[in-house]
Amino acid sequence: MIEDKWGWIMKEKCLVSACLLGIRCRYDGKSKPNKEVIELKTRFDFIPVCPEQLGGLPTPRFKSEIRSDGRVINEKGEDWTEHFIRGAEEVLNIARMLNIKKAILKERSPSCGVNEIYDGTFRGKRMRGKGITTRLLEEKGIEVISEEELSKKSV
Ligand code: SF4
Repeated sequence: MIEDKWGWIMKEKCLVSACLLGIRCRYDGKSKPNKEVIELKTRFDFIPVCPEQLGGLPTPRFKSEIRSDGRVINEKGEDWTEHFIRGAEEVLNIARMLNIKKAILKERSPSCGVNEIYDGTFRGKRMRGKGITTRLLEEKGIEVISEEELSKKSV
């Protein structure tokens, strides 16, 4: 925590996948609140983001996965890659505007996955990999961890 020139206490800002905070932004119109993440609000000022909504996709929406060629395809076979890239860029814009250096993102999402994603076959098979937003944020020097890593790492 930092005290600014008016004596106000400033907490470090942190991007968080909005669904982890209880926002109903997932493809199925539901959320995925995570107690361990929510408890960190005493330590950080959370900036909730949903890259897929920021990329112009509706909620609810078709489930999507990243194919082996890197394209993001929804379960109806439509190519949604441009929406995913746009969403990632908007999250990066927010991070730069607010000088944010940390993010806690939802594991296995095609946007927010940090260590694992689904393999693009829609058969529930997981593989090592990163979501489109996570990849861009990390390339630009933002530290990203998943909600599943919180208990293992100190943030
Ligand atoms: S894109 Fe990220 S924030 Fe949005 S619903 Fe999926 S995991 Fe949650």
